[in-house]
Amino acid sequence: IPVERFDLIIFGGTGDLARRKILPGLFKRFADGQVPDGSRIIGAARSEMDRGEFRQFAKDAVISAQGDAVEPTVLESFLEALDYVTIDALGEIGWSELSEKLQGDSVRAFYFSVGPSLFDDLAVRLQKHKLVEPDTRIVVEKPFGHDLETAKALNKVLSAYFDESQIYRIDHYLGKETVQNLMAVRFGNMLFEPLWNSQYIDHVQITVAEEVGVGGRGGYYDKSGAMRDMVQNHLMQLLCLTAMEPPAKFDPDAVRDEKLKVIRALDPVEPHHVVRGQYSETDDEKGFRDDVENAKSWTESFVALRCQVGNWRWSGTPFYLRTGKRLQARDSEIVVVFKDTPHSIFGAEAGGARNELRIQLQPDEGITLKVTIKEPGPGGMRLMDVPLDMSFAETLGDHADTPDAYERLIMDVIRGNQTLFMRDDEVEAAWAWTDPIIQGWEAVHDVPKPYDSYSQGPTDAMLLMQRDGREWREIG
Ligand code: NAD
Repeated sequence: IPVERFDLIIFGGTGDLARRKILPGLFKRFADGQVPDGSRIIGAARSEMDRGEFRQFAKDAVISAQGDAVEPTVLESFLEALDYVTIDALGEIGWSELSEKLQGDSVRAFYFSVGPSLFDDLAVRLQKHKLVEPDTRIVVEKPFGHDLETAKALNKVLSAYFDESQIYRIDHYLGKETVQNLMAVRFGNMLFEPLWNSQYIDHVQITVAEEVGVGGRGGYYDKSGAMRDMVQNHLMQLLCLTAMEPPAKFDPDAVRDEKLKVIRALDPVEPHHVVRGQYSETDDEKGFRDDVENAKSWTESFVALRCQVGNWRWSGTPFYLRTGKRLQARDSEIVVVFKDTPHSIFGAEAGGARNELRIQLQPDEGITLKVTIKEPGPGGMRLMDVPLDMSFAETLGDHADTPDAYERLIMDVIRGNQTLFMRDDEVEAAWAWTDPIIQGWEAVHDVPKPYDSYSQGPTDAMLLMQRDGREWREIG
Protein backbone atom coordinates (compact mmCIF):
# COMPACT_ATOMS: atom_id res chain seq x y z
CA ILE A 1 0.00 0.00 0.00
CA PRO A 2 1.59 3.33 -1.03
CA VAL A 3 2.29 6.02 1.51
CA GLU A 4 2.19 9.79 1.30
CA ARG A 5 5.27 11.96 1.22
CA PHE A 6 6.66 12.27 4.72
CA ASP A 7 9.15 13.95 7.05
CA LEU A 8 10.44 11.46 9.61
CA ILE A 9 12.50 13.02 12.37
CA ILE A 10 14.55 10.56 14.39
CA PHE A 11 15.45 11.92 17.82
CA GLY A 12 18.42 9.78 18.79
CA GLY A 13 19.25 9.32 15.09
CA THR A 14 22.88 8.55 15.92
CA GLY A 15 22.04 5.86 18.49
CA ASP A 16 22.25 2.08 18.38
CA LEU A 17 18.61 1.50 17.47
CA ALA A 18 18.75 3.98 14.58
CA ARG A 19 21.95 2.37 13.31
CA ARG A 20 20.85 -1.24 13.57
CA LYS A 21 17.13 -1.08 12.79
CA ILE A 22 15.57 2.23 11.80
CA LEU A 23 17.96 3.44 9.09
CA PRO A 24 18.49 0.01 7.44
CA GLY A 25 14.72 -0.54 7.56
CA LEU A 26 14.03 2.78 5.88
CA PHE A 27 16.62 2.01 3.23
CA LYS A 28 14.89 -1.27 2.37
CA ARG A 29 11.55 0.49 1.96
CA PHE A 30 13.29 3.12 -0.19
CA ALA A 31 14.92 0.45 -2.35
CA ASP A 32 11.48 -1.12 -2.83
CA GLY A 33 10.19 2.21 -4.12
CA GLN A 34 7.99 2.85 -1.11
CA VAL A 35 9.46 6.16 -0.03
CA PRO A 36 7.79 8.87 -2.13
CA ASP A 37 9.90 11.58 -3.78
CA GLY A 38 10.47 14.57 -1.58
CA SER A 39 10.25 12.59 1.66
CA ARG A 40 12.93 13.33 4.20
CA ILE A 41 14.54 11.50 7.05
CA ILE A 42 16.06 13.90 9.54
CA GLY A 43 18.42 12.67 12.22
CA ALA A 44 18.23 14.83 15.35
CA ALA A 45 20.57 14.06 18.21
CA ARG A 46 23.03 15.59 20.60
CA SER A 47 26.08 14.47 18.62
CA GLU A 48 27.82 17.31 16.77
CA MET A 49 27.60 16.25 13.14
CA ASP A 50 26.80 17.81 9.83
CA ARG A 51 24.57 16.39 7.13
CA GLY A 52 27.53 14.75 5.34
CA GLU A 53 28.66 12.96 8.48
CA PHE A 54 25.16 11.74 9.23
CA ARG A 55 24.86 10.42 5.67
CA GLN A 56 28.13 8.55 6.16
CA PHE A 57 26.81 7.15 9.47
CA ALA A 58 23.65 5.99 7.70
CA LYS A 59 25.64 4.54 4.79
CA ASP A 60 27.77 2.47 7.17
CA ALA A 61 24.62 1.40 9.03
CA VAL A 62 22.91 0.19 5.86
CA ILE A 63 25.99 -1.61 4.55
CA SER A 64 26.65 -3.34 7.84
CA ALA A 65 23.01 -4.46 8.08
CA GLN A 66 22.59 -5.51 4.47
CA GLY A 67 26.07 -6.42 3.31
CA ASP A 68 26.74 -6.89 -0.39
CA ALA A 69 23.08 -6.81 -1.37
CA VAL A 70 23.14 -3.02 -1.42
CA GLU A 71 22.95 -1.39 -4.84
CA PRO A 72 25.35 1.63 -4.61
CA THR A 73 23.31 3.98 -6.82
CA VAL A 74 20.14 3.25 -4.84
CA LEU A 75 22.00 3.84 -1.61
CA GLU A 76 23.29 7.19 -2.88
CA SER A 77 19.78 8.39 -3.76
CA PHE A 78 18.53 7.18 -0.36
CA LEU A 79 21.24 9.22 1.35
CA GLU A 80 20.08 12.34 -0.50
CA ALA A 81 16.82 12.14 1.43
CA LEU A 82 18.75 12.33 4.72
CA ASP A 83 19.40 15.44 6.72
CA TYR A 84 20.66 16.13 10.23
CA VAL A 85 20.24 18.65 13.04
CA THR A 86 22.31 18.77 16.20
CA ILE A 87 19.69 19.19 18.86
CA ASP A 88 19.49 19.16 22.64
CA ALA A 89 16.32 17.74 24.12
CA LEU A 90 17.16 19.50 27.36
CA GLY A 91 17.97 22.94 25.93
CA GLU A 92 17.38 25.31 23.05
CA ILE A 93 20.10 24.16 20.67
CA GLY A 94 18.81 23.08 17.27
CA TRP A 95 15.06 23.58 17.60
CA SER A 96 14.71 26.59 15.30
CA GLU A 97 16.85 24.86 12.73
CA LEU A 98 14.65 21.77 12.89
CA SER A 99 11.55 23.92 12.55
CA GLU A 100 12.91 25.50 9.35
CA LYS A 101 13.59 22.11 7.80
CA LEU A 102 10.06 20.73 8.13
CA GLN A 103 7.73 20.77 5.15
CA GLY A 104 4.16 21.89 5.70
CA ASP A 105 2.51 19.52 3.27
CA SER A 106 4.00 16.15 4.28
CA VAL A 107 3.02 13.54 6.83
CA ARG A 108 5.07 14.36 9.91
CA ALA A 109 6.37 11.79 12.39
CA PHE A 110 8.78 12.15 15.29
CA TYR A 111 10.54 8.95 16.33
CA PHE A 112 11.60 9.16 20.01
CA SER A 113 14.59 6.82 19.76
CA VAL A 114 16.00 8.10 23.05
CA GLY A 115 15.64 7.02 26.67
CA PRO A 116 12.15 7.62 28.17
CA SER A 117 13.55 10.17 30.62
CA LEU A 118 13.78 12.57 27.64
CA PHE A 119 10.17 12.15 26.44
CA ASP A 120 8.85 14.97 28.57
CA ASP A 121 11.51 17.44 27.43
CA LEU A 122 11.07 16.50 23.79
CA ALA A 123 7.29 16.88 24.04
CA VAL A 124 7.55 20.29 25.72
CA ARG A 125 9.91 21.62 23.09
CA LEU A 126 7.96 20.18 20.19
CA GLN A 127 4.91 22.04 21.46
CA LYS A 128 6.78 25.23 22.29
CA HIS A 129 8.17 25.41 18.76
CA LYS A 130 4.75 24.54 17.32
CA LEU A 131 6.07 21.52 15.46
CA VAL A 132 3.12 19.31 16.29
CA GLU A 133 0.07 19.43 14.03
CA PRO A 134 -3.14 17.51 14.66
CA ASP A 135 -2.01 14.76 12.31
CA THR A 136 1.59 14.54 13.57
CA ARG A 137 2.70 11.12 14.81
CA ILE A 138 4.95 10.23 17.74
CA VAL A 139 6.77 6.89 17.81
CA VAL A 140 8.04 5.55 21.13
CA GLU A 141 10.08 2.49 22.05
CA LYS A 142 10.09 0.16 25.00
CA PRO A 143 10.61 0.21 27.93
CA PHE A 144 7.15 1.65 28.57
CA GLY A 145 7.79 2.08 32.25
CA HIS A 146 9.33 -0.15 34.88
CA ASP A 147 6.07 -1.04 36.59
CA LEU A 148 2.45 0.11 36.56
CA GLU A 149 3.16 3.34 38.37
CA THR A 150 5.98 4.47 36.07
CA ALA A 151 4.04 3.33 32.99
CA LYS A 152 1.10 5.47 34.07
CA ALA A 153 3.42 8.41 34.64
CA LEU A 154 4.92 7.97 31.15
CA ASN A 155 1.48 7.73 29.55
CA LYS A 156 0.46 10.83 31.45
CA VAL A 157 3.42 12.76 30.08
CA LEU A 158 2.59 11.71 26.53
CA SER A 159 -1.13 12.33 26.87
CA ALA A 160 -0.49 15.83 28.21
CA TYR A 161 0.95 16.79 24.83
CA PHE A 162 -0.46 14.35 22.29
CA ASP A 163 -3.71 12.59 21.57
CA GLU A 164 -3.63 8.78 21.96
CA SER A 165 -4.40 8.55 18.23
CA GLN A 166 -1.02 10.23 17.56
CA ILE A 167 1.06 7.85 19.71
CA TYR A 168 2.64 4.74 18.20
CA ARG A 169 4.18 2.42 20.85
CA ILE A 170 6.41 -0.04 19.03
CA ASP A 171 6.52 -3.70 19.98
CA HIS A 172 8.54 -5.09 17.11
CA TYR A 173 7.18 -8.61 17.64
CA LEU A 174 3.86 -7.31 16.33
CA GLY A 175 5.59 -6.26 13.12
CA LYS A 176 6.70 -9.79 12.30
CA GLU A 177 5.13 -11.33 9.23
CA THR A 178 4.25 -14.57 11.02
CA VAL A 179 2.59 -12.80 13.91
CA GLN A 180 0.23 -11.16 11.48
CA ASN A 181 -0.09 -14.47 9.72
CA LEU A 182 -1.34 -15.91 12.98
CA MET A 183 -4.33 -13.60 12.61
CA ALA A 184 -4.73 -14.55 8.94
CA VAL A 185 -4.62 -18.25 9.83
CA ARG A 186 -7.08 -17.87 12.68
CA PHE A 187 -9.58 -15.52 11.11
CA GLY A 188 -9.12 -16.20 7.39
CA ASN A 189 -9.81 -19.96 7.51
CA MET A 190 -12.84 -21.94 8.55
CA LEU A 191 -10.55 -24.74 9.63
CA PHE A 192 -9.10 -23.43 12.89
CA GLU A 193 -11.45 -21.08 14.66
CA PRO A 194 -14.11 -23.68 15.54
CA LEU A 195 -11.39 -25.71 17.27
CA TRP A 196 -9.72 -22.72 18.89
CA ASN A 197 -10.87 -23.27 22.47
CA SER A 198 -10.39 -25.41 25.55
CA GLN A 199 -12.56 -28.17 24.18
CA TYR A 200 -9.98 -29.00 21.49
CA ILE A 201 -6.76 -27.31 22.59
CA ASP A 202 -4.78 -28.98 25.37
CA HIS A 203 -2.38 -26.13 25.97
CA VAL A 204 -0.39 -23.38 24.29
CA GLN A 205 3.32 -22.78 24.72
CA ILE A 206 5.07 -19.56 23.80
CA THR A 207 8.85 -19.44 23.77
CA VAL A 208 11.20 -16.58 23.02
CA ALA A 209 14.68 -18.01 23.48
CA GLU A 210 17.84 -16.03 22.88
CA GLU A 211 21.30 -17.44 22.52
CA VAL A 212 23.04 -14.20 23.43
CA GLY A 213 23.63 -13.08 27.00
CA VAL A 214 22.97 -9.56 28.25
CA GLY A 215 26.04 -8.29 26.38
CA GLY A 216 26.80 -4.62 26.90
CA ARG A 217 23.37 -3.89 28.38
CA GLY A 218 24.26 -5.28 31.83
CA GLY A 219 23.56 -2.09 33.78
CA TYR A 220 20.09 -1.68 32.29
CA TYR A 221 19.27 -5.37 32.39
CA ASP A 222 20.15 -5.87 36.05
CA LYS A 223 17.43 -3.37 36.93
CA SER A 224 14.98 -4.95 34.55
CA GLY A 225 15.15 -8.75 34.09
CA ALA A 226 13.34 -11.11 31.75
CA MET A 227 9.89 -10.49 33.21
CA ARG A 228 10.00 -6.75 32.60
CA ASP A 229 12.15 -6.83 29.47
CA MET A 230 10.33 -9.61 27.58
CA VAL A 231 7.24 -11.06 29.26
CA GLN A 232 5.37 -7.85 30.08
CA ASN A 233 5.52 -6.77 26.44
CA HIS A 234 6.52 -9.27 23.74
CA LEU A 235 5.25 -12.52 25.25
CA MET A 236 2.04 -10.95 26.46
CA GLN A 237 1.39 -9.55 23.00
CA LEU A 238 1.88 -12.99 21.46
CA LEU A 239 -0.41 -14.46 24.09
CA CYS A 240 -3.06 -11.85 23.30
CA LEU A 241 -3.05 -12.53 19.58
CA THR A 242 -3.31 -16.26 20.21
CA ALA A 243 -6.08 -16.03 22.79
CA MET A 244 -8.20 -13.06 21.69
CA GLU A 245 -11.75 -13.28 20.39
CA PRO A 246 -12.23 -12.44 16.70
CA PRO A 247 -12.37 -8.66 16.40
CA ALA A 248 -15.31 -7.37 14.37
CA LYS A 249 -12.90 -5.70 11.96
CA PHE A 250 -9.18 -5.61 11.38
CA ASP A 251 -9.00 -2.07 12.62
CA PRO A 252 -6.84 -0.58 15.38
CA ASP A 253 -9.33 -0.20 18.17
CA ALA A 254 -11.25 -3.39 17.42
CA VAL A 255 -8.03 -5.44 17.59
CA ARG A 256 -6.66 -3.63 20.62
CA ASP A 257 -9.96 -3.91 22.50
CA GLU A 258 -9.86 -7.69 22.09
CA LYS A 259 -6.22 -7.89 23.18
CA LEU A 260 -6.98 -5.81 26.24
CA LYS A 261 -9.81 -8.17 27.21
CA VAL A 262 -7.36 -11.08 27.20
CA ILE A 263 -4.92 -9.31 29.52
CA ARG A 264 -7.75 -8.33 31.84
CA ALA A 265 -9.03 -11.91 31.88
CA LEU A 266 -5.68 -13.35 33.01
CA ASP A 267 -5.87 -14.97 36.42
CA PRO A 268 -3.19 -14.00 38.93
CA VAL A 269 -0.24 -16.38 38.65
CA GLU A 270 0.37 -18.79 41.52
CA PRO A 271 3.95 -18.45 42.89
CA HIS A 272 4.64 -22.15 42.25
CA HIS A 273 3.71 -21.63 38.61
CA VAL A 274 6.70 -19.36 37.96
CA VAL A 275 10.36 -20.31 37.59
CA ARG A 276 13.18 -17.81 37.41
CA GLY A 277 16.73 -18.52 36.33
CA GLN A 278 20.17 -17.01 35.83
CA TYR A 279 22.74 -18.36 33.37
CA SER A 280 26.04 -19.69 34.67
CA GLU A 281 29.50 -19.10 33.31
CA THR A 282 31.14 -21.35 30.74
CA ASP A 283 34.86 -22.05 30.29
CA ASP A 284 35.03 -19.13 27.86
CA GLU A 285 32.29 -16.77 28.89
CA LYS A 286 31.12 -14.96 31.97
CA GLY A 287 27.96 -15.86 33.81
CA PHE A 288 25.02 -13.53 34.38
CA ARG A 289 26.27 -11.98 37.61
CA ASP A 290 29.62 -11.13 36.05
CA ASP A 291 27.90 -9.75 32.96
CA VAL A 292 25.82 -7.35 35.02
CA GLU A 293 28.76 -6.69 37.36
CA ASN A 294 26.71 -7.47 40.44
CA ALA A 295 27.87 -10.53 42.39
CA LYS A 296 24.63 -10.57 44.38
CA SER A 297 22.22 -9.91 41.56
CA TRP A 298 18.77 -11.45 42.01
CA THR A 299 17.62 -10.41 38.58
CA GLU A 300 16.37 -13.19 36.30
CA SER A 301 17.75 -13.84 32.82
CA PHE A 302 15.11 -16.55 32.35
CA VAL A 303 11.50 -16.91 33.31
CA ALA A 304 8.94 -19.64 32.67
CA LEU A 305 5.39 -19.50 33.88
CA ARG A 306 2.03 -21.11 33.57
CA CYS A 307 -0.95 -18.83 33.24
CA GLN A 308 -4.64 -19.09 32.66
CA VAL A 309 -6.92 -16.87 30.64
CA GLY A 310 -9.97 -16.87 32.90
CA ASN A 311 -12.78 -16.78 30.38
CA TRP A 312 -15.27 -19.15 28.76
CA ARG A 313 -13.12 -19.97 25.74
CA TRP A 314 -9.95 -20.92 27.61
CA SER A 315 -11.13 -22.36 30.90
CA GLY A 316 -8.91 -25.39 31.55
CA THR A 317 -6.34 -24.67 28.79
CA PRO A 318 -3.11 -23.40 30.33
CA PHE A 319 -0.73 -21.07 28.52
CA TYR A 320 2.94 -21.68 29.26
CA LEU A 321 5.33 -18.81 28.58
CA ARG A 322 9.11 -18.91 28.70
CA THR A 323 11.90 -16.63 27.67
CA GLY A 324 15.56 -16.39 28.48
CA LYS A 325 19.03 -15.44 27.44
CA ARG A 326 21.98 -17.77 26.79
CA LEU A 327 19.72 -20.64 25.90
CA GLN A 328 20.59 -23.39 23.47
CA ALA A 329 19.56 -21.44 20.40
CA ARG A 330 17.74 -18.38 19.14
CA ASP A 331 14.34 -19.92 18.76
CA SER A 332 10.96 -18.27 19.14
CA GLU A 333 7.62 -19.86 18.53
CA ILE A 334 4.01 -20.23 19.53
CA VAL A 335 2.89 -23.86 19.69
CA VAL A 336 -0.79 -24.70 19.92
CA VAL A 337 -1.10 -28.31 21.06
CA PHE A 338 -4.46 -29.94 20.33
CA LYS A 339 -6.00 -32.67 22.47
CA ASP A 340 -5.85 -36.38 21.75
CA THR A 341 -8.56 -37.84 19.57
CA PRO A 342 -11.34 -39.01 21.91
CA HIS A 343 -10.83 -42.64 20.94
CA SER A 344 -8.11 -44.39 18.97
CA ILE A 345 -9.60 -46.91 16.56
CA PHE A 346 -6.07 -48.11 15.71
CA GLY A 347 -5.01 -48.95 19.25
CA ALA A 348 -2.26 -47.33 21.31
CA GLU A 349 0.49 -49.40 19.67
CA ALA A 350 -0.23 -47.83 16.24
CA GLY A 351 1.54 -44.65 17.33
CA GLY A 352 0.67 -41.17 16.17
CA ALA A 353 0.64 -37.99 18.20
CA ARG A 354 -1.40 -34.92 18.77
CA ASN A 355 -1.96 -32.23 16.19
CA GLU A 356 0.17 -29.19 16.73
CA LEU A 357 0.11 -25.83 15.06
CA ARG A 358 3.51 -24.25 15.32
CA ILE A 359 4.05 -20.62 14.48
CA GLN A 360 7.76 -19.97 14.28
CA LEU A 361 9.08 -16.42 14.59
CA GLN A 362 12.85 -16.93 14.91
CA PRO A 363 15.30 -17.80 13.49
CA ASP A 364 13.11 -18.32 10.39
CA GLU A 365 9.48 -17.44 10.07
CA GLY A 366 6.99 -20.13 9.14
CA ILE A 367 3.90 -22.07 10.11
CA THR A 368 3.71 -25.83 10.48
CA LEU A 369 0.71 -28.01 11.17
CA LYS A 370 1.56 -31.45 12.46
CA VAL A 371 -0.92 -34.08 11.30
CA THR A 372 -1.12 -37.85 11.63
CA ILE A 373 -1.15 -40.14 8.58
CA LYS A 374 -0.56 -43.79 7.88
CA GLU A 375 3.06 -44.87 7.67
CA PRO A 376 3.58 -45.79 4.01
CA GLY A 377 4.16 -49.46 3.12
CA PRO A 378 2.69 -52.84 3.80
CA GLY A 379 3.51 -52.91 7.52
CA GLY A 380 -0.10 -52.68 8.65
CA MET A 381 -1.89 -49.70 10.12
CA ARG A 382 0.91 -47.80 11.76
CA LEU A 383 0.65 -44.06 12.16
CA MET A 384 3.20 -41.31 11.78
CA ASP A 385 3.29 -37.51 12.14
CA VAL A 386 4.07 -35.33 9.18
CA PRO A 387 4.36 -31.59 9.07
CA LEU A 388 2.21 -29.61 6.67
CA ASP A 389 4.77 -26.93 6.24
CA MET A 390 4.52 -23.33 5.19
CA SER A 391 8.06 -22.13 5.60
CA PHE A 392 8.01 -18.69 4.03
CA ALA A 393 11.38 -19.08 2.39
CA GLU A 394 10.45 -22.31 0.58
CA THR A 395 6.75 -21.92 -0.03
CA LEU A 396 6.53 -18.31 -1.01
CA GLY A 397 9.64 -18.03 -3.20
CA ASP A 398 10.15 -14.40 -4.24
CA HIS A 399 7.72 -13.12 -1.66
CA ALA A 400 9.79 -14.74 1.05
CA ASP A 401 11.97 -11.69 1.49
CA THR A 402 9.70 -10.64 4.30
CA PRO A 403 10.29 -7.11 5.47
CA ASP A 404 11.89 -6.68 8.84
CA ALA A 405 9.43 -5.79 11.58
CA TYR A 406 10.73 -2.23 11.82
CA GLU A 407 10.23 -1.57 8.10
CA ARG A 408 6.61 -2.55 8.28
CA LEU A 409 5.93 -0.68 11.50
CA ILE A 410 7.54 2.56 10.33
CA MET A 411 5.47 2.45 7.15
CA ASP A 412 2.35 1.81 9.24
CA VAL A 413 3.17 4.98 11.19
CA ILE A 414 3.31 6.95 7.94
CA ARG A 415 0.03 5.35 6.83
CA GLY A 416 -1.53 6.29 10.16
CA ASN A 417 -2.46 2.70 11.00
CA GLN A 418 -2.19 1.93 14.72
CA THR A 419 -3.36 -1.71 14.58
CA LEU A 420 0.06 -3.15 15.35
CA PHE A 421 0.93 -0.67 18.09
CA MET A 422 0.13 -0.90 21.77
CA ARG A 423 -2.45 1.35 23.32
CA ASP A 424 -1.93 3.03 26.72
CA ASP A 425 -4.52 0.86 28.48
CA GLU A 426 -2.95 -2.36 27.12
CA VAL A 427 0.46 -1.41 28.47
CA GLU A 428 -0.97 -0.55 31.86
CA ALA A 429 -3.08 -3.72 32.07
CA ALA A 430 0.01 -5.80 31.27
CA TRP A 431 1.92 -4.14 34.11
CA ALA A 432 -1.03 -4.59 36.45
CA TRP A 433 -0.71 -8.34 35.81
CA THR A 434 3.10 -8.63 36.00
CA ASP A 435 3.67 -6.29 38.98
CA PRO A 436 2.26 -8.68 41.64
CA ILE A 437 4.43 -11.52 40.30
CA ILE A 438 7.56 -9.38 40.63
CA GLN A 439 6.47 -8.03 44.02
CA GLY A 440 5.94 -11.64 45.16
CA TRP A 441 9.58 -12.44 44.36
CA GLU A 442 10.78 -9.36 46.14
CA ALA A 443 8.70 -10.16 49.23
CA VAL A 444 10.26 -13.60 49.66
CA HIS A 445 13.71 -12.68 48.31
CA ASP A 446 13.34 -15.28 45.60
CA VAL A 447 16.74 -16.35 44.27
CA PRO A 448 16.82 -17.32 40.58
CA LYS A 449 17.84 -20.90 39.80
CA PRO A 450 21.17 -21.21 38.02
CA TYR A 451 21.13 -22.85 34.59
CA ASP A 452 23.88 -23.91 32.23
CA SER A 453 24.61 -21.49 29.44
CA TYR A 454 23.39 -22.79 26.05
CA SER A 455 20.98 -25.23 27.68
CA GLN A 456 17.19 -25.56 27.80
CA GLY A 457 17.04 -23.43 30.96
CA PRO A 458 16.65 -24.42 34.62
CA THR A 459 15.45 -27.95 35.46
CA ASP A 460 12.56 -26.44 37.40
CA ALA A 461 11.18 -25.05 34.16
CA MET A 462 11.01 -28.60 32.81
CA LEU A 463 9.29 -29.72 36.00
CA LEU A 464 6.72 -26.94 35.67
CA MET A 465 5.43 -28.73 32.57
CA GLN A 466 6.15 -32.29 33.64
CA ARG A 467 4.04 -31.90 36.77
CA ASP A 468 1.11 -31.26 34.42
CA GLY A 469 2.01 -34.30 32.29
CA ARG A 470 3.25 -32.08 29.46
CA GLU A 471 6.57 -31.17 27.85
CA TRP A 472 8.17 -28.12 26.36
CA ARG A 473 9.21 -28.34 22.75
CA GLU A 474 12.96 -28.53 22.66
CA ILE A 475 14.72 -25.23 22.04
CA GLY A 476 16.98 -25.34 18.96
P1 NAD B 1 21.70 5.02 22.42
O1 NAD B 1 22.23 5.36 23.76
O2 NAD B 1 22.53 4.22 21.50
O3 NAD B 1 21.38 6.39 21.66
C1 NAD B 1 20.77 7.48 22.28
C2 NAD B 1 20.57 8.62 21.29
O4 NAD B 1 19.95 9.69 21.99
C3 NAD B 1 21.85 9.19 20.68
O5 NAD B 1 21.60 9.51 19.33
C4 NAD B 1 22.08 10.48 21.48
O6 NAD B 1 22.75 11.48 20.74
C5 NAD B 1 20.65 10.88 21.74
N1 NAD B 1 20.53 11.76 22.91
C6 NAD B 1 20.88 11.49 24.19
N2 NAD B 1 20.65 12.57 24.97
C7 NAD B 1 20.14 13.54 24.17
C8 NAD B 1 19.70 14.88 24.37
N3 NAD B 1 19.74 15.48 25.56
N4 NAD B 1 19.22 15.55 23.31
C9 NAD B 1 19.18 15.00 22.10
N5 NAD B 1 19.58 13.75 21.84
C10 NAD B 1 20.06 13.02 22.86
O7 NAD B 1 20.26 4.39 22.65
P2 NAD B 1 19.50 3.29 21.73
O8 NAD B 1 20.02 1.95 22.05
O9 NAD B 1 19.50 3.74 20.31
O10 NAD B 1 18.03 3.33 22.33
C11 NAD B 1 17.11 4.39 22.11
C12 NAD B 1 15.78 4.03 22.78
O11 NAD B 1 15.25 2.84 22.20
C13 NAD B 1 15.90 3.73 24.27
O12 NAD B 1 14.73 4.14 24.92
C14 NAD B 1 15.99 2.22 24.33
O13 NAD B 1 15.51 1.70 25.54
C15 NAD B 1 15.07 1.84 23.19
N6 NAD B 1 15.35 0.53 22.61
C16 NAD B 1 16.56 0.26 22.04
C17 NAD B 1 16.79 -0.98 21.49
C18 NAD B 1 18.11 -1.31 20.83
O14 NAD B 1 18.20 -2.39 20.27
N7 NAD B 1 19.10 -0.45 20.85
C19 NAD B 1 15.79 -1.96 21.49
C20 NAD B 1 14.56 -1.64 22.05
C21 NAD B 1 14.36 -0.39 22.60
